[in-house]
Amino acid sequence: MTVYFIGAGPGDPDLITVKGAKLVETCPVVLYAGSLVPKAVIERAQPDARVYDSASMDLDQITQVYTDAHANGEDVARVQTGDLSIYSSLAEQTRRLDALGIDWQVVPGVSSFQAAAAALGQELTLPEACQTIILSRASGRTPVPDKENLRSLARHEATLCLFLSATLIRKVVRELSDVYPPHWPVCVVEKASHPQQRILRGTLADIAEKMQAANIRSTAMIIVSKVFAIEDFVDSKLYDPAFSHACRKARVVEPAPDHEGEGDESR
Ligand code: SAH
Repeated sequence: MTVYFIGAGPGDPDLITVKGAKLVETCPVVLYAGSLVPKAVIERAQPDARVYDSASMDLDQITQVYTDAHANGEDVARVQTGDLSIYSSLAEQTRRLDALGIDWQVVPGVSSFQAAAAALGQELTLPEACQTIILSRASGRTPVPDKENLRSLARHEATLCLFLSATLIRKVVRELSDVYPPHWPVCVVEKASHPQQRILRGTLADIAEKMQAANIRSTAMIIVSKVFAIEDFVDSKLYDPAFSHACRKARVVEPAPDHEGEGDESR
């Protein structure tokens, strides 16, 4: 018997992985986070599967579902939003399962920051201009370690994807404005990949007003990045005719190499 933690993706029921969908279709017990996991994902379950919504449960009650299924020798599909590696409470659940000697596995999902980037049609890394993505959140009722404060993260000028921060947008803008000029680009995607998806494009100077006017308060990804304003980035090495890598030989004479450029590193 195994508890399968399955990333359901950001909302569009077609964005669960094939592996995750097959498990939902076959597990006799399905436990899903009803606040964000779409019903269409759960409708894949067997007609006689026992399906529970964890939205109103606490950790003890959730653990009880696992314990009961374990006693019956039944696999559990535990379906949660996006990917399990980010703000999912996976760790506290698996700690309990380990203590109980119950096996578990994780099936990855499409995270909401990826769905937001897709909605924006935006590569979040641009050759030589920005090569790092930071996934974080503003500190509010849930504290964030002081060393991870937004001002210090902003100093890297990496693409900054903020989860769980829509109601804290004014605080976000205040802290980032200590580091960035007012015209620094900010995009917000509400309900990325849902039919009700909305996109706001703005700057540090106007994004809080735009969010307020649109009444966006939850299920929103805030992406702060210069990539939205950079048009004159260089082409990548990946398709550079003068660059050889594991899958392709250069067609034109290569300039003196300044790095290794092998396989995946050619991007
Ligand atoms: N594990 C999830 C994140 C859970 S935390 C993941 O990988 O996406 C919940 C936060 O995720 C929300 O506050 C919001 O910031 C973001 N989020 C979840 N679904 C979203 C969606 N469809 N569109 C935009 N943001 C979303």
